[in-house]
Formats: sequence, structure tokens, C-alpha cells
Amino acid sequence: MAQEDVFKKLVAHCKEYGFVFPSSEIYDGLAAVYDYGQYGVELKNNIKKYWWDSLVLLHENIVGLDAAIFMHPTIWKASGHVDAFNDPLVDNRDSKKRYRADVLIEDQMAKYEGKILKEVEKARKRFGEDFDEEQFRSTNQRVLRNQEKLEKLHSRYVRAMNDSDLEELWQIIIDEEIVCPISGTRNWTEVRQFNLMFSTEMGSTAESASKIYLRPETAQGIFVNYLNVQKSGRMKIPFGIAQTGKAFRNEIVARQFIFRMREFEQMEMQFFVPPGTELEWFRYWKEARMKWHRALGFGDDHYRFHDHDKLAHYANAATDIEYRFPFGFKEVEGIHSRTDFDLGSHQEYSGKKMQYFDPDTNQNYVPYVVETSIGLDRMFLQIISAAYHEEELIKEDGTRDSRVVLRLPPVLAPVKLAVFPLTKKDNLPEKARSIVNELKFDFNCQYEEKDSIGKRYRRQDAIGTPYCITVDHQTLQDNTVTIRYRDSMKQDRVGIPNLKATIKEKVDISNLLKQL
Ligand code: ATP
Repeated sequence: MAQEDVFKKLVAHCKEYGFVFPSSEIYDGLAAVYDYGQYGVELKNNIKKYWWDSLVLLHENIVGLDAAIFMHPTIWKASGHVDAFNDPLVDNRDSKKRYRADVLIEDQMAKYEGKILKEVEKARKRFGEDFDEEQFRSTNQRVLRNQEKLEKLHSRYVRAMNDSDLEELWQIIIDEEIVCPISGTRNWTEVRQFNLMFSTEMGSTAESASKIYLRPETAQGIFVNYLNVQKSGRMKIPFGIAQTGKAFRNEIVARQFIFRMREFEQMEMQFFVPPGTELEWFRYWKEARMKWHRALGFGDDHYRFHDHDKLAHYANAATDIEYRFPFGFKEVEGIHSRTDFDLGSHQEYSGKKMQYFDPDTNQNYVPYVVETSIGLDRMFLQIISAAYHEEELIKEDGTRDSRVVLRLPPVLAPVKLAVFPLTKKDNLPEKARSIVNELKFDFNCQYEEKDSIGKRYRRQDAIGTPYCITVDHQTLQDNTVTIRYRDSMKQDRVGIPNLKATIKEKVDISNLLKQL
């Protein structure tokens, strides 16, 4: 199936099964804004818990925070967002579609990379075991030509981005003959800067109102509170503050479902360190965060680091953790060494000291910061993309069947177990309900009696429920039930008193956390 079709199916599945709905749908929706349904909210909460516990629970030097979305407007001046939180945009005059100039150019670079990879894969098939990739890449003419084009484009692009040279970005688009994917033409407007912050007014009368911004990142709430937390919690550097919460960006291009939203949720951790040690900590958090992703078991080769070519105004090192989505490798998380830029700037703008007194060295200094910043919604999309499977099945009687199954890690599954009475009679529903009533204190359970058992299994497969329990006539005699496993579809007979321990072993978050 083409990757685009997979993505369309994912979007449809998320809506049909109560994970994600377009916002304000009865009014035809609101671009790049989405609502989470009954299963979506559970999955989202479970991801959030995995993130939170991995930092706050497992590290005695990391604590949480919940800062307000509204903040003093000068914060965004100090952070550089008022002047520099821009994306370069360009319009196609024929399709009237708007694009990010940097994304168009990055896609062009990905095309060259794709061409090279195709040649390499073709040769790998042709030469089999004797294939020497390094030699092939350094001698094949087509690969070398594309590599040269890629490198030329790359260095031109990095220079233009670092100098914020909008004319040069436009010239690159023209020289590379990049066309609009909708109209197919090269009829581009000039490239302009566009600030991504939403603003509104705070105050009761027009005269007293002041312009405030909806935060475009949660990090600033941590910076302005770092001394409050440090002093009240008697924290010693190095220490971290973790926060989850909504962020808002008026994104130019909003066509990739919950990958790029205008209202989204971030999970950010700022780690405060002595100046000069930041790159060491940067490397530490790079590895630690990659481990967190890989522990979910979706396959190590689906993740990679992408070091930034263009460093943001505040950073001296930055990398992204990218996941291989159906539409290619894309960023899920950013790890940034933010230096003392933010704290230093807040010190300057507020006139308040942001220094930390180090009792070990008797010195005052403004700490350096390494941040890990991940989008909760993007992580949600990553997990759903990895978990979604369409399977062809051959039944016991030889007939064919198919199912859609979400192979979610059981720890993250919205519903952990579903309990079915085989029929609606003979006291089986009562028995099934008594199991739910006992287990609901430990797990998110569902009771279902409608339709055939097969149909009930399919509904639970589609939302990723790892265990289905069936209560039948034998249950009434020996107090055992069948437990059916989502992925293997195998069934075991277990005693009701053992159910809790059997399920807990697989869905307990501590097993996942112990892998970190
Ligand atoms: P991009 O290059 O994709 O615009 P970014 O580099 O601006 O992202 P950061 O500012 O580093 O992103 O934000 C940290 C994380 O927040 C990202 O890795 C991503 O997971 C998430 N994120 C950022 N913007 C959005 C958005 N518009 N919608 C959903 N998630 C987002």
C-alpha cells in the first residue's frame, strides 16, 4: 500500500474509533485543531504518564511544575520570540497554497537523498552478499552526481537560513526548479517572514488592555520559575524541572493531521547545569531520550538523530530524534543545549538576579540549560502509526478473514481488558460484571455483551486492547475464563483469582520504566 494511503487510513481509523476528531466538526472544522475522543484521551494520558514518571519519578533531582499559559508579555521579548520566532513563507500564485520555504527546500534535499538510496538498494540487490556500499557510493556516477547536487544545495541552504536571507531562499527555490505539489507550477511569490505567535488582549477596558501572547512553548514558564523551585525545593545543580502543557503556534502549513497543529501539547524538561558542562549533559540527555523511545519496542531502526544545521538563536548544540512516519523520517523530539541565553536574558529584561549560589564552590553563576522537548500529539501520532496493522487471517475452517489491530504497548493501551459473557443468559452477564467490578480498581476495563464474540474481538483489536476475557458455561463450574491475547490471538484458560496478576505483569508501567 502506498505510504500516503496508510496515512489516510490512520486518520480515518482515529476518527472512527474515538481517538481523534477534527475540532468543531459540525461547523466544517477549524484548520489544524483537533479534539481527542474517549480512547484518544486515555492513550494521551498514558503517554504523558510514561514521560512524567521516567523523569520525575526516576530522578530525585527532577521535579515538576505547572505554569500558567498567560505570561507577562516582556517574557516573549526577552526570549527572542517577538523578534525571531518566524518562519519564511512563500505562496504559489496558481494554487493559492502557502508553504514554508525552508520545508520546500528540505524536501528537495530529501529527494536527492532518496535518489541516492534507490541506487544503493538497486545495487545491493544486484550484487547480493558481495556488495560493498562504501565503494559503490564513492564510484557510481549517478550517486556522485546526486551527492554533489545535495551538498551544494545543503551548504547554500544553511548559509541562507543562518543569514535569514529571504531573497536567497527564493532564488534557491527558483534555481532548483521546485514546483508546487498542487498546481505543478513555479509561479512563486517572494519569500516573507511570518511570526508564529498568537496574541490577544488582557484587561477589562480598551485603554487598560495590554497585548499578551499565547505561549508558543512551555519552556519559558520553567525559566521564570527556576529560582522559586530551586529555593523552595532546596535543589542543587544539576537539577531539572519538567512540565507538560498546551502551546500555540500559528503554523503556516497545517496539512498533516496532528503532526503540525496550531494548538498542541508539549512535554518539556529543562536541566540546569554548571557552565562548561552543558555539552556533556547534552550528550547524556540525547542518549537517555533515545532509550526512552526505543523502550517502546517499535524497532530501533525506526529512529535516528538529526543534528541541526541551523542553530536557534539560543543554542550551542541541538539535535532531533526522528521517527520513520508513513510520510518519511520526521522530528518527534528536540534536544537543545540552550546555554545561559534564556536566564541571562530574563535577568537583563526583569532586572532580577537569576544567579544560582553553588555551595560546593562558593560561586554565583547563571546556570546553563539543556532541554528535552517533545510534542505529546506528535508522539501520539508516532505511536498510532507504529501500532496500526492490517492483517490477513486464515481461520480454522480455512476461510479468509482480515482485521485491523493496534499493536500498542500494553502499558499505553487505552483499555487494558475487555470482559465478555459468551451469551446474554444463564447468569453469564452477572459473572462477567463481577470480574469487571473487581478489576476496575486496577485497570481500565470494558464490559461488552453485544454481537458475536468474533465481532467483539475485532472491536477491541481496533482500539488496541491487549486482553479479552470470555466468561462461558465452564466458568460457572470451575471459576476459570479464557484470556485471549491481542497480538497472537492465542487463548489460555486461567482461574479468575489469577487474572489480576497475569494482566498486571504486562501492563504495569514499572516494567517499562525499569528498562530505562
Ligand atoms: P518543526 O521544525 O517541526 O516546526 P520545531 O523544531 O519548531 O518543530 P520545537 O520548537 O523544537 O519544534 O518543539 C519541540 C517539539 O514540539 C517538536 O519536536 C514537536 O514534537 C512538537 N511540536 C512543535 N510544533 C508543533 C506543532 N505545530 N504541532 C504539534 N507538535 C509540535
